[in-house]
Amino acid sequence: MVVAGAGMAGLVAAARLRELGCTVTVREKGTRIGGSMLLSSCVIWRHRDWDEFRRECPDGDERLQRLVWDGLDDALEWLEVLGARAVWEETGNPRTVGKRFSPRGLAEVLANHVSQIELNAQGCDDETTILCTGGFAASSDLVTRYITPAASLRLRANPWSEGDGLCHALDRGAALTAGMDEFYGRNMPDAPWDETELVSLSQLYGRFARIFDEDGVEFFRSGDVSWSETNVVQATARRRDAKAYYLLDAAALEQRVRDRTVGQMVEAAPAEARVELSDLPFDPPEGVVAAVRVIASITHTIGGLRVDERARVLREDGSPLDGLWAAGVDAGGVSTGGYASGLAQALVLGLAAAEDVAR
Ligand SMILES: Cc1cc2nc3c(=O)[nH]c(=O)nc-3n(C[C@H](O)[C@H](O)[C@H](O)COP(=O)(O)OP(=O)(O)OC[C@H]3O[C@@H](n4cnc5c(N)ncnc54)[C@H](O)[C@@H]3O)c2cc1C
Repeated sequence: MVVAGAGMAGLVAAARLRELGCTVTVREKGTRIGGSMLLSSCVIWRHRDWDEFRRECPDGDERLQRLVWDGLDDALEWLEVLGARAVWEETGNPRTVGKRFSPRGLAEVLANHVSQIELNAQGCDDETTILCTGGFAASSDLVTRYITPAASLRLRANPWSEGDGLCHALDRGAALTAGMDEFYGRNMPDAPWDETELVSLSQLYGRFARIFDEDGVEFFRSGDVSWSETNVVQATARRRDAKAYYLLDAAALEQRVRDRTVGQMVEAAPAEARVELSDLPFDPPEGVVAAVRVIASITHTIGGLRVDERARVLREDGSPLDGLWAAGVDAGGVSTGGYASGLAQALVLGLAAAEDVAR
Protein backbone atom coordinates (compact mmCIF):
# COMPACT_ATOMS: atom_id res chain seq x y z
CA MET A 1 0.00 0.00 0.00
CA VAL A 2 1.33 3.44 -0.90
CA VAL A 3 0.36 6.75 0.64
CA ALA A 4 1.27 9.67 -1.62
CA GLY A 5 2.31 12.69 0.45
CA ALA A 6 3.63 13.08 4.00
CA GLY A 7 1.56 16.11 4.96
CA MET A 8 -1.33 16.09 7.42
CA ALA A 9 -3.62 13.63 5.60
CA GLY A 10 -0.84 11.29 4.49
CA LEU A 11 0.80 10.99 7.90
CA VAL A 12 -2.57 10.46 9.60
CA ALA A 13 -3.61 7.76 7.09
CA ALA A 14 -0.26 5.97 7.35
CA ALA A 15 -0.19 6.08 11.16
CA ARG A 16 -3.73 4.70 11.36
CA LEU A 17 -2.94 1.97 8.80
CA ARG A 18 0.02 0.82 10.83
CA GLU A 19 -2.09 0.83 13.97
CA LEU A 20 -4.55 -1.42 12.10
CA GLY A 21 -1.75 -3.82 11.19
CA CYS A 22 -1.16 -2.86 7.55
CA THR A 23 2.24 -2.41 5.91
CA VAL A 24 2.46 0.94 4.21
CA THR A 25 5.05 3.12 2.53
CA VAL A 26 4.64 6.90 2.46
CA ARG A 27 6.20 8.54 -0.58
CA GLU A 28 6.85 12.27 -0.18
CA LYS A 29 7.78 14.39 -3.17
CA GLY A 30 9.39 17.14 -1.11
CA THR A 31 12.62 17.31 0.86
CA ARG A 32 10.84 17.15 4.22
CA ILE A 33 7.71 15.79 5.82
CA GLY A 34 4.78 17.92 7.03
CA GLY A 35 3.56 19.58 3.81
CA SER A 36 1.65 22.79 4.40
CA MET A 37 0.72 21.58 7.87
CA LEU A 38 4.27 22.34 8.97
CA LEU A 39 3.84 25.99 7.89
CA SER A 40 0.40 26.37 9.41
CA SER A 41 -1.03 27.84 12.62
CA CYS A 42 -2.12 24.23 13.27
CA VAL A 43 -5.56 25.03 14.69
CA ILE A 44 -7.68 21.97 13.89
CA TRP A 45 -11.30 23.02 14.14
CA ARG A 46 -14.92 22.62 13.13
CA HIS A 47 -17.83 25.03 13.25
CA ARG A 48 -19.46 25.00 16.68
CA ASP A 49 -22.89 24.83 15.13
CA TRP A 50 -23.83 22.40 12.32
CA ASP A 51 -26.35 24.78 10.73
CA GLU A 52 -23.78 27.55 10.63
CA PHE A 53 -21.33 25.20 8.87
CA ARG A 54 -23.99 24.44 6.26
CA ARG A 55 -24.86 28.14 5.91
CA GLU A 56 -21.21 29.12 5.47
CA CYS A 57 -20.27 26.31 3.09
CA PRO A 58 -23.60 25.80 1.31
CA ASP A 59 -22.24 24.15 -1.84
CA GLY A 60 -20.29 21.43 -0.04
CA ASP A 61 -21.21 17.74 -0.06
CA GLU A 62 -23.41 17.37 3.01
CA ARG A 63 -22.33 13.72 3.66
CA LEU A 64 -18.65 14.70 3.77
CA GLN A 65 -19.39 17.72 5.89
CA ARG A 66 -21.27 15.48 8.35
CA LEU A 67 -18.35 13.06 8.42
CA VAL A 68 -15.90 15.84 9.36
CA TRP A 69 -18.23 17.63 11.76
CA ASP A 70 -19.31 14.43 13.58
CA GLY A 71 -15.87 12.83 13.50
CA LEU A 72 -13.53 15.62 14.50
CA ASP A 73 -13.79 15.38 18.29
CA ASP A 74 -12.94 11.65 18.29
CA ALA A 75 -10.21 12.24 15.73
CA LEU A 76 -8.60 14.89 17.96
CA GLU A 77 -8.74 12.45 20.85
CA TRP A 78 -7.02 9.83 18.65
CA LEU A 79 -4.21 12.33 17.95
CA GLU A 80 -3.76 12.94 21.66
CA VAL A 81 -3.75 9.23 22.50
CA LEU A 82 -1.02 8.89 19.87
CA GLY A 83 1.02 11.39 21.87
CA ALA A 84 0.28 14.78 20.29
CA ARG A 85 -0.01 17.53 22.91
CA ALA A 86 -2.47 20.39 22.33
CA VAL A 87 -0.95 23.81 23.03
CA TRP A 88 -4.39 25.43 23.22
CA GLU A 89 -7.57 23.60 24.23
CA GLU A 90 -9.71 25.99 22.20
CA THR A 91 -9.49 27.94 18.97
CA GLY A 92 -9.94 31.49 20.27
CA ASN A 93 -12.85 31.94 17.84
CA PRO A 94 -16.35 31.69 19.37
CA ARG A 95 -17.76 30.31 16.09
CA THR A 96 -15.50 27.26 16.17
CA VAL A 97 -14.31 24.46 18.44
CA GLY A 98 -11.07 22.54 18.18
CA LYS A 99 -7.48 22.52 19.39
CA ARG A 100 -4.17 24.03 18.45
CA PHE A 101 -1.01 21.94 18.19
CA SER A 102 2.61 22.71 17.52
CA PRO A 103 3.03 21.87 13.81
CA ARG A 104 6.50 20.43 14.29
CA GLY A 105 5.46 18.43 17.36
CA LEU A 106 2.43 17.02 15.55
CA ALA A 107 4.43 16.05 12.47
CA GLU A 108 7.01 14.27 14.64
CA VAL A 109 4.43 12.34 16.65
CA LEU A 110 2.67 11.19 13.49
CA ALA A 111 5.92 10.29 11.72
CA ASN A 112 7.00 8.18 14.72
CA HIS A 113 3.93 6.02 14.11
CA VAL A 114 4.61 5.49 10.42
CA SER A 115 6.76 2.54 9.35
CA GLN A 116 8.44 3.93 6.23
CA ILE A 117 8.72 7.37 4.67
CA GLU A 118 10.67 7.99 1.45
CA LEU A 119 11.56 11.60 0.70
CA ASN A 120 12.07 13.03 -2.81
CA ALA A 121 9.77 10.26 -4.05
CA GLN A 122 6.86 10.48 -6.47
CA GLY A 123 3.85 8.86 -4.84
CA CYS A 124 1.28 8.71 -7.62
CA ASP A 125 2.64 5.89 -9.81
CA ASP A 126 1.00 2.96 -8.11
CA GLU A 127 -2.33 1.31 -8.67
CA THR A 128 -3.28 1.13 -4.98
CA THR A 129 -2.79 4.50 -3.42
CA ILE A 130 -4.19 6.92 -0.92
CA LEU A 131 -3.71 10.29 -2.60
CA CYS A 132 -2.72 12.95 -0.06
CA THR A 133 -0.75 15.32 -2.27
CA GLY A 134 -2.37 18.53 -1.00
CA GLY A 135 -4.28 19.80 -4.03
CA PHE A 136 -2.93 21.99 -6.82
CA ALA A 137 -2.13 25.38 -5.31
CA ALA A 138 1.51 25.21 -6.45
CA SER A 139 0.72 24.55 -10.11
CA SER A 140 0.36 27.79 -12.03
CA ASP A 141 -1.00 25.80 -15.01
CA LEU A 142 -3.81 24.20 -12.99
CA VAL A 143 -4.53 27.41 -11.08
CA THR A 144 -4.84 29.18 -14.44
CA ARG A 145 -7.09 26.44 -15.82
CA TYR A 146 -9.44 26.09 -12.86
CA ILE A 147 -9.28 29.24 -10.73
CA THR A 148 -8.45 32.38 -12.64
CA PRO A 149 -7.23 32.72 -16.21
CA ALA A 150 -5.04 35.69 -15.28
CA ALA A 151 -3.30 33.85 -12.46
CA SER A 152 -0.85 36.14 -10.71
CA LEU A 153 -1.59 34.62 -7.32
CA ARG A 154 1.33 34.17 -4.94
CA LEU A 155 1.77 30.78 -3.28
CA ARG A 156 1.24 30.72 0.48
CA ALA A 157 1.88 27.03 1.04
CA ASN A 158 4.36 24.22 0.43
CA PRO A 159 5.87 24.28 -3.09
CA TRP A 160 5.21 20.62 -4.01
CA SER A 161 1.40 20.43 -4.14
CA GLU A 162 1.16 20.71 -7.91
CA GLY A 163 -1.94 18.63 -8.54
CA ASP A 164 -0.19 15.27 -9.02
CA GLY A 165 -2.92 13.43 -7.15
CA LEU A 166 -5.64 15.21 -9.10
CA CYS A 167 -4.05 14.44 -12.49
CA HIS A 168 -3.37 10.80 -11.59
CA ALA A 169 -6.98 10.25 -10.55
CA LEU A 170 -8.39 12.10 -13.58
CA ASP A 171 -6.33 9.81 -15.83
CA ARG A 172 -8.00 6.87 -14.12
CA GLY A 173 -11.49 8.25 -14.68
CA ALA A 174 -12.20 10.21 -11.50
CA ALA A 175 -14.85 12.93 -11.25
CA LEU A 176 -14.34 16.45 -9.92
CA THR A 177 -16.39 18.28 -7.32
CA ALA A 178 -18.10 21.66 -7.57
CA GLY A 179 -16.08 24.72 -6.61
CA MET A 180 -12.96 24.01 -8.67
CA ASP A 181 -12.52 27.78 -8.96
CA GLU A 182 -12.48 28.32 -5.18
CA PHE A 183 -9.51 28.51 -2.87
CA TYR A 184 -8.54 29.38 0.67
CA GLY A 185 -5.83 31.99 1.09
CA ARG A 186 -4.87 35.33 2.49
CA ASN A 187 -4.13 38.78 1.13
CA MET A 188 -0.42 39.21 1.82
CA PRO A 189 1.78 42.32 1.53
CA ASP A 190 2.86 42.92 -2.06
CA ALA A 191 6.54 42.51 -1.18
CA PRO A 192 9.01 39.65 -0.82
CA TRP A 193 8.35 37.23 2.06
CA ASP A 194 9.35 33.68 2.87
CA GLU A 195 7.65 30.60 4.28
CA THR A 196 8.45 31.50 7.89
CA GLU A 197 6.30 34.64 7.54
CA LEU A 198 3.11 33.16 6.07
CA VAL A 199 1.14 33.62 9.29
CA SER A 200 2.71 36.76 10.75
CA LEU A 201 2.46 38.83 7.55
CA SER A 202 -1.14 37.94 6.66
CA GLN A 203 -3.12 41.16 6.24
CA LEU A 204 -6.23 39.97 8.01
CA TYR A 205 -8.20 43.19 8.36
CA GLY A 206 -10.17 43.56 5.14
CA ARG A 207 -13.32 44.00 7.25
CA PHE A 208 -11.95 47.33 8.58
CA ALA A 209 -10.50 48.64 5.31
CA ARG A 210 -11.79 50.27 2.20
CA ILE A 211 -10.72 48.01 -0.63
CA PHE A 212 -9.68 49.37 -4.02
CA ASP A 213 -8.00 47.76 -7.02
CA GLU A 214 -5.08 49.05 -9.11
CA ASP A 215 -7.57 50.97 -11.30
CA GLY A 216 -9.05 52.85 -8.37
CA VAL A 217 -12.28 50.82 -8.31
CA GLU A 218 -13.67 50.11 -4.84
CA PHE A 219 -14.51 46.51 -5.67
CA PHE A 220 -15.40 45.02 -2.27
CA ARG A 221 -17.30 46.52 0.64
CA SER A 222 -15.78 45.90 4.07
CA GLY A 223 -19.25 44.96 5.36
CA ASP A 224 -19.30 42.01 2.94
CA VAL A 225 -15.99 40.54 4.10
CA SER A 226 -16.54 37.12 5.73
CA TRP A 227 -14.94 36.35 9.11
CA SER A 228 -12.33 34.13 7.45
CA GLU A 229 -11.80 36.85 4.79
CA THR A 230 -11.72 34.10 2.14
CA ASN A 231 -14.28 35.91 -0.02
CA VAL A 232 -12.28 39.13 -0.33
CA VAL A 233 -9.11 37.17 -1.13
CA GLN A 234 -10.91 35.29 -3.91
CA ALA A 235 -12.28 38.58 -5.24
CA THR A 236 -8.81 40.17 -5.12
CA ALA A 237 -7.46 37.23 -7.15
CA ARG A 238 -9.74 38.31 -9.99
CA ARG A 239 -8.66 41.97 -10.08
CA ARG A 240 -5.76 43.22 -12.21
CA ASP A 241 -2.49 41.52 -11.16
CA ALA A 242 -4.40 39.96 -8.22
CA LYS A 243 -3.64 43.10 -6.21
CA ALA A 244 -5.63 45.46 -4.03
CA TYR A 245 -5.09 48.46 -1.76
CA TYR A 246 -6.33 48.30 1.81
CA LEU A 247 -7.03 51.90 2.86
CA LEU A 248 -7.42 52.65 6.56
CA ASP A 249 -8.61 55.55 8.64
CA ALA A 250 -7.40 56.31 12.16
CA ALA A 251 -10.24 54.39 13.83
CA ALA A 252 -9.54 51.29 11.72
CA LEU A 253 -5.92 51.23 12.86
CA GLU A 254 -7.11 50.90 16.48
CA GLN A 255 -9.29 47.82 15.82
CA ARG A 256 -8.16 44.49 17.19
CA VAL A 257 -7.90 41.25 15.23
CA ARG A 258 -7.03 38.36 17.55
CA ASP A 259 -3.94 39.42 19.52
CA ARG A 260 -2.91 42.44 17.42
CA THR A 261 -4.27 45.79 16.36
CA VAL A 262 -4.72 46.58 12.69
CA GLY A 263 -2.02 49.23 13.12
CA GLN A 264 0.42 46.55 14.32
CA MET A 265 -0.38 44.34 11.33
CA VAL A 266 0.23 47.28 9.00
CA GLU A 267 3.54 48.02 10.75
CA ALA A 268 4.56 44.37 10.33
CA ALA A 269 4.17 44.62 6.54
CA PRO A 270 7.44 45.19 4.63
CA ALA A 271 8.02 48.83 3.67
CA GLU A 272 7.60 48.05 -0.07
CA ALA A 273 3.93 47.27 0.57
CA ARG A 274 3.17 50.29 2.76
CA VAL A 275 2.28 52.94 0.22
CA GLU A 276 2.51 56.70 0.74
CA LEU A 277 -0.90 58.20 0.05
CA SER A 278 0.69 60.50 -2.54
CA ASP A 279 1.99 57.41 -4.39
CA LEU A 280 -1.42 55.76 -4.75
CA PRO A 281 -2.48 55.41 -8.41
CA PHE A 282 -5.82 57.11 -7.52
CA ASP A 283 -7.05 59.73 -5.06
CA PRO A 284 -7.84 58.16 -1.69
CA PRO A 285 -11.16 58.92 0.02
CA GLU A 286 -11.18 61.49 2.79
CA GLY A 287 -9.96 60.35 6.22
CA VAL A 288 -7.58 57.67 4.96
CA VAL A 289 -4.26 57.74 6.85
CA ALA A 290 -2.57 54.50 5.77
CA ALA A 291 -2.46 52.28 2.67
CA VAL A 292 -1.12 48.77 2.14
CA ARG A 293 -0.83 47.10 -1.27
CA VAL A 294 -1.77 43.44 -0.94
CA ILE A 295 -1.64 40.49 -3.29
CA ALA A 296 -4.01 37.52 -3.23
CA SER A 297 -2.12 34.42 -2.11
CA ILE A 298 -3.32 30.83 -2.31
CA THR A 299 -2.96 28.41 0.58
CA HIS A 300 -4.99 25.53 -0.77
CA THR A 301 -7.61 24.63 -3.29
CA ILE A 302 -11.20 23.90 -2.24
CA GLY A 303 -12.46 21.91 -5.22
CA GLY A 304 -10.88 18.54 -5.95
CA LEU A 305 -11.57 14.84 -6.43
CA ARG A 306 -15.03 13.54 -5.69
CA VAL A 307 -14.89 11.04 -2.82
CA ASP A 308 -17.41 9.23 -0.63
CA GLU A 309 -17.49 8.93 3.17
CA ARG A 310 -14.94 6.09 2.93
CA ALA A 311 -12.64 8.48 1.04
CA ARG A 312 -12.90 6.30 -2.08
CA VAL A 313 -12.37 8.29 -5.28
CA LEU A 314 -15.54 8.27 -7.37
CA ARG A 315 -16.33 8.27 -11.06
CA GLU A 316 -18.91 10.60 -12.56
CA ASP A 317 -21.61 7.90 -12.11
CA GLY A 318 -20.81 7.65 -8.38
CA SER A 319 -19.06 4.27 -8.52
CA PRO A 320 -15.69 3.96 -6.71
CA LEU A 321 -12.44 3.49 -8.61
CA ASP A 322 -10.56 0.33 -7.65
CA GLY A 323 -7.68 0.90 -5.25
CA LEU A 324 -7.83 4.67 -5.13
CA TRP A 325 -8.60 6.85 -2.13
CA ALA A 326 -8.06 10.59 -1.57
CA ALA A 327 -7.81 12.56 1.66
CA GLY A 328 -7.02 16.10 2.71
CA VAL A 329 -7.05 18.82 0.10
CA ASP A 330 -6.92 16.29 -2.76
CA ALA A 331 -10.54 15.54 -1.88
CA GLY A 332 -12.92 18.35 -2.78
CA GLY A 333 -16.40 19.15 -1.62
CA VAL A 334 -16.03 19.85 2.09
CA SER A 335 -15.82 23.64 2.34
CA THR A 336 -17.27 24.58 -1.05
CA GLY A 337 -18.87 28.01 -1.03
CA GLY A 338 -17.00 29.13 2.10
CA TYR A 339 -14.20 28.00 4.36
CA ALA A 340 -13.63 25.24 6.90
CA SER A 341 -10.51 23.81 8.52
CA GLY A 342 -8.26 22.09 5.98
CA LEU A 343 -6.50 20.26 8.78
CA ALA A 344 -9.78 18.85 10.09
CA GLN A 345 -10.64 17.62 6.60
CA ALA A 346 -7.19 16.03 6.30
CA LEU A 347 -7.43 14.39 9.72
CA VAL A 348 -10.91 12.93 9.40
CA LEU A 349 -10.61 11.84 5.76
CA GLY A 350 -7.12 10.43 6.40
CA LEU A 351 -8.57 8.22 9.12
CA ALA A 352 -11.55 7.26 6.94
CA ALA A 353 -9.28 6.22 4.07
CA ALA A 354 -7.05 4.12 6.32
CA GLU A 355 -10.01 2.39 7.93
CA ASP A 356 -11.52 1.57 4.56
CA VAL A 357 -8.23 0.19 3.21
CA ALA A 358 -7.86 -2.00 6.30
CA ARG A 359 -11.42 -3.36 6.08
C1 LIG B 1 0.39 29.58 6.62
C2 LIG B 1 -0.68 28.52 6.74
C3 LIG B 1 -1.53 28.54 7.85
C4 LIG B 1 -2.53 27.56 7.95
N1 LIG B 1 -3.27 27.51 9.09
C5 LIG B 1 -4.21 26.55 9.24
C6 LIG B 1 -4.93 26.40 10.44
O1 LIG B 1 -4.65 27.03 11.47
N2 LIG B 1 -5.96 25.49 10.47
C7 LIG B 1 -6.25 24.68 9.41
O2 LIG B 1 -7.18 23.87 9.48
N3 LIG B 1 -5.53 24.75 8.27
C8 LIG B 1 -4.51 25.64 8.16
N4 LIG B 1 -3.74 25.68 7.03
C9 LIG B 1 -4.07 24.74 5.93
C10 LIG B 1 -3.52 23.32 6.22
O3 LIG B 1 -2.13 23.39 6.42
C11 LIG B 1 -3.86 22.39 5.06
O4 LIG B 1 -5.25 22.41 4.86
C12 LIG B 1 -3.42 20.95 5.35
O5 LIG B 1 -2.04 20.89 5.54
C13 LIG B 1 -3.86 20.05 4.21
O6 LIG B 1 -3.38 18.76 4.45
P1 LIG B 1 -2.97 17.84 3.21
O7 LIG B 1 -2.41 16.60 3.76
O8 LIG B 1 -4.08 17.77 2.26
O9 LIG B 1 -1.81 18.70 2.49
P2 LIG B 1 -0.34 19.02 3.00
O10 LIG B 1 -0.29 19.03 4.47
O11 LIG B 1 0.11 20.23 2.28
O12 LIG B 1 0.51 17.78 2.49
C14 LIG B 1 0.61 17.44 1.12
C15 LIG B 1 1.94 16.71 0.92
O13 LIG B 1 1.94 16.03 -0.34
C16 LIG B 1 3.23 16.16 -0.90
N5 LIG B 1 3.15 15.87 -2.35
C17 LIG B 1 2.70 16.65 -3.34
N6 LIG B 1 2.74 15.97 -4.51
C18 LIG B 1 3.23 14.74 -4.24
C19 LIG B 1 3.50 13.58 -5.02
N7 LIG B 1 3.27 13.54 -6.34
N8 LIG B 1 4.01 12.47 -4.42
C20 LIG B 1 4.29 12.48 -3.09
N9 LIG B 1 4.06 13.56 -2.29
C21 LIG B 1 3.50 14.66 -2.87
C22 LIG B 1 3.62 17.58 -0.54
O14 LIG B 1 5.01 17.79 -0.67
C23 LIG B 1 3.13 17.67 0.91
O15 LIG B 1 4.12 17.21 1.80
C24 LIG B 1 -2.70 26.59 6.92
C25 LIG B 1 -1.80 26.55 5.84
C26 LIG B 1 -0.79 27.50 5.78
C27 LIG B 1 0.20 27.40 4.63
